[in-house]
Amino acid sequence: MNRILLVEDHAAMRELVVRELQHAGIAADAVGRVREAEACLAQVRYAALVLDRGLPDGDALPWLQRLRERQVLIPCLLLTARDALHDRVDGLEAGADDYLAKPFERDELVARVRALLRRQSAWVASAPQWAGLVVDPVGARLSHGRSSVNLAPSELQLMLTLVRAEGKVVRRAALESAAWGLTEPVTPNALDVALHRLRRKLEVLGSTVRLVNTKAVGYALEQASGGTAGELGDQAG
Ligand code: CA
Repeated sequence: MNRILLVEDHAAMRELVVRELQHAGIAADAVGRVREAEACLAQVRYAALVLDRGLPDGDALPWLQRLRERQVLIPCLLLTARDALHDRVDGLEAGADDYLAKPFERDELVARVRALLRRQSAWVASAPQWAGLVVDPVGARLSHGRSSVNLAPSELQLMLTLVRAEGKVVRRAALESAAWGLTEPVTPNALDVALHRLRRKLEVLGSTVRLVNTKAVGYALEQASGGTAGELGDQAG
């Protein structure tokens, strides 16, 4: 189903947009704050996001940028009253796919949302997976079959990195910068602690995937049977 999430604090504008989309056969949930939008995204897999820039709990752009950093690639149309060139550029650089300046024509709104929905198949397929493990970057969950567990922010970034590596070894430094960025101070054993928690979570899920350590190199996911670890096997001997 093509359900979209509208984030717009102006009540009359919110109702107008929802009504126009409904007339066009597009279902929409509508909220007025970033905090509420975050909660909705964690529960529902929306096909697209229509985002007003100025919201009571802050500028929507830094939030959009953080979503993109978390690999939440939901197609996004930015609504802005500010049509200055730098605002449009800022919006696109923060990760918006398109923008629409207020006031806008009803037909143009519907046409642009439909264009976003055509991109959704790529987004829906974007939850990284490997060997039966699925990482949901929006809900911060790791699943295997019908089981799933919550991931802390650093654990989410580590699993995204490891699953994308598809069994290849990822160096410690790369894992640390994925989990904590380049600027956040990291204690020497923070990575080991986070990886230990991930190992426990893989066991809880009943996954056959193991998180293995190659002493001098780094870490990789390895399937218990089938030997698909590739480089790992060569390097670990
Ligand atoms: Ca607003």
